[in-house]
Amino acid sequence: MTLARHPRIPAATAINPPSSSSIAPSPCHLVTPSPRHPVALSQPQIIIKRRRAQPFFYRHPWVFAGAIGRVDGQPATGEEVAVVAHDGQFIGRGLFNPHSNIRVRLYAWDDETPLDDALWSRRLDEAIAARRELFGEFASDTACRLIYSEADGISGLTVDRYGEWLLVQLTSRALAERRDLLFRLLQEKLKPRGIWLRTEKGIGEAEGLDIADALVAGKEPPRPLFIEEHGVRYGIDVVEGQKTGFYLDQRDNRQTLARYVHQGERVLDVFCYSGGFGLAAIVRGGAGEVLGVDVSERGLAVARANAELNSVGERFRFERGKAFEVLERLASAGEKFDAVVLDPPKMTRHRAGLAQALKGYHQLNRSAVELLRPGGLLVTCSCSGLVSRDDFERMLAGVALDAGRPIQIVESRGAAADHPMSVFCPETAYLKCCVCRVGG
Ligand code: SAH
Repeated sequence: MTLARHPRIPAATAINPPSSSSIAPSPCHLVTPSPRHPVALSQPQIIIKRRRAQPFFYRHPWVFAGAIGRVDGQPATGEEVAVVAHDGQFIGRGLFNPHSNIRVRLYAWDDETPLDDALWSRRLDEAIAARRELFGEFASDTACRLIYSEADGISGLTVDRYGEWLLVQLTSRALAERRDLLFRLLQEKLKPRGIWLRTEKGIGEAEGLDIADALVAGKEPPRPLFIEEHGVRYGIDVVEGQKTGFYLDQRDNRQTLARYVHQGERVLDVFCYSGGFGLAAIVRGGAGEVLGVDVSERGLAVARANAELNSVGERFRFERGKAFEVLERLASAGEKFDAVVLDPPKMTRHRAGLAQALKGYHQLNRSAVELLRPGGLLVTCSCSGLVSRDDFERMLAGVALDAGRPIQIVESRGAAADHPMSVFCPETAYLKCCVCRVGG
């Protein structure tokens, strides 16, 4: 992606980008030089309301309906539009979707770059090249995220590589309409054995999109499909498993857990799904015994198979149940662990649910602390984008006070490097993983 500076953002002032609620207008600290030129474009124009354009000059890619003052022309669903400020100054080019609350997704910020096949091709090349730098030549059991939507300048497209298969998610209707082109480009560039399309829950309604999971090129992926991560083998179901089959974003946090676990220790892996954290603790960290807890029988079946695959079945036990209830039962049985991992699913999708989510995190972490020996390790995660790192750390302070035990964060981590955060779109950094020492 070329990052030519926008004429309205002198470098010296561009140090304080909008926060995660960047759609809301923030105090204007921009010097405003005279406009480069007002746009005179043939395509439909989306005119942003006065004082609402700042996030887009900062290249936030989501133009919500509420920021739009006027639409000039009659753009069709998926059509390319120019986004301009109220005074006519050009901001960027995007794709229009009247069915989504995100009316326009922006993809280019100069008026010479059309959103044509060459642009998508370049963006894919850049994202793939960045992953090759991280992973080297992909092996037949490498699993990683190749394209991460806004973070790679392609809002609405996610592509995960699992060995020789690609798992694609389309979360924008306009890109879904270009799917044949995108699939063709992915085939040309990566020569996968197959491409499988996965649909994200709720996205159909959010985007007015009618797509279903399907094989879109090549051969169906094997079930299970085997991958290796930091020396641990996993068999996963990319067709029906959660997400695209595996939680790739936690890769390096599983490795981190292994670094902190000592030989023979007892570990509790809550929300274990396919057994990722627990297996890292046993295979890499030398844990003596892990108890994995999850509500999903299917997840636990995969986890059991993965423990066998790594020949550590006798050290990995499982309990099916709701986390809160299992934690309570373990506490009343007087059980203690050297390390507890908490990796719950997203707790809220809406700002209105934030307080409730924080209460949930508090309860979970409070129960986990109860089960830790003095000096034990708590690896606690949140993938709720709306919960900020500050919120999460404050929640931990509340837990420490409540439990009367000090909590030190020894590592504050996020998602693995193949899920980068775009500084233009803070929402791309959703995962928090705090590695904590819990005192006596
Ligand atoms: N730690 C896993 C990923 C966890 S994803 C890994 O490294 O791969 C979240 C998991 O929480 C899912 O497997 C889901 O089945 C489980 N889950 C959701 N609600 C739950 C609940 N109330 N109690 C226990 N598990 C739950």
